Amino acid sequence: VQKDKKVGLSQIITPPFDVNLVRRDFPILQEYVNGKQLIWLDNAATTQKPKQVIDRISYFYEHENSNIHRAAHELAARATDAYEGARKKVQEFLNAGSVNEIVFVRGATEAINLVAKSWGEQNLHAGDEIIVSNLEHHANIVPWQQLAAKKGLKIKVIPVDDDGQILLDEYTKLLGPKTKLVSFTQVSNALGTVTPAAQIVHLAHLAGAKVLVDGAQSVSHMRVDVRALNADWFVFSGHKVFGPTGIGVLYGKEALLNETQPWQGGGNMIVDVTFEHTQYHNAPSRFEAGTGNIADAVGLGAAIDYVSRLGMDAIAQYEHYLLEYATGLLKEVPGIRLIGTAPDKASVLSFVLAGYKTEEVGAELNKEGIAVRSGHHCAQPILRRFGVESTVRPSLAFYNTCAEIDVLVNTLHRLAR
Ligand code: PLP
Repeated sequence: VQKDKKVGLSQIITPPFDVNLVRRDFPILQEYVNGKQLIWLDNAATTQKPKQVIDRISYFYEHENSNIHRAAHELAARATDAYEGARKKVQEFLNAGSVNEIVFVRGATEAINLVAKSWGEQNLHAGDEIIVSNLEHHANIVPWQQLAAKKGLKIKVIPVDDDGQILLDEYTKLLGPKTKLVSFTQVSNALGTVTPAAQIVHLAHLAGAKVLVDGAQSVSHMRVDVRALNADWFVFSGHKVFGPTGIGVLYGKEALLNETQPWQGGGNMIVDVTFEHTQYHNAPSRFEAGTGNIADAVGLGAAIDYVSRLGMDAIAQYEHYLLEYATGLLKEVPGIRLIGTAPDKASVLSFVLAGYKTEEVGAELNKEGIAVRSGHHCAQPILRRFGVESTVRPSLAFYNTCAEIDVLVNTLHRLAR
């Protein structure tokens, strides 16, 4: 076993924060799995939650729980303040121009479906074209396919090069007068590729198209500025950024949100209702029909406070070290094929190991307490682009360490022998 062969490298990594202190905030990292301390490398699927988030949700249920907006009593005011406070934190986190641009939804999937089923239904017509990239998660393919089938739209796909990076020249050729929407991911969940998002948005706008950026994998790894990005919509899920499941965000430009008719009707989103007619609120309420996930929105606010305290730039810097460290060591494992080798990457690794099915690798790693995802990662088209149906995907977060990567790599060396 190449035990500690490269451990010297970990010494030159000086994280911009104390990783051991940070790890103490995450109770689940103390869990034991198969007699080994958990090594959580499945962060692209979901991230673990710091105590600050868990405590904030408990506090809400213990001291603030009420439905929001509707009642003139103290707890309604507390719940409303907490919920709207979380919206403000999201606005600042994304550098959006107004809280009115932040719609709470269940997650990235629901946000994309919202845009497809409201704006898409209302504005796209037979013959119109939607461009997505080869890197997309199924959540950014299937809703557009459903809409295309219903309305006679055409879907075009931006190809990627052999490293898994978007081919901008090919993209430019796909754009034309029929292009009405470009919808693409800022970071690939399967390969970790960071796409040239600002350029893609700019070119789409020059062609007169609207743009949706899927930020499900980017918000936890890098500073996002929706005003600089200039996308028309930006979506993400709370659970991938150290917040709870069941809460996510649709950012949309305010005027665009207000000229779009809501996709769901009910309480909370109306100014006035008669049996003949309903007048809707402006955004964000018009897209938040019914009682939302109030407590988890508040929990998401706490998660944003947490990462903001560490600093997104510091997180990105440390994760970059971890990615370089892991990539260097993984390359030396005999029989490994790394997929997704673009120079611009977030800390997601994808590979296959000769002689093993990916689920076998996953099961062997699990015996060592290591959690990785083995499978198609809900991104079958991009894996097929590289001739595989499945990969092993270790994905790193700021609470991971070089020592954990050593355990991963040593286990793979043992398998490869
Ligand atoms: N987009 C990307 C790039 C993702 O990685 C994911 C989840 O893995 C999604 C969208 C969907 O997110 P959710 O399942 O939280 O709605």
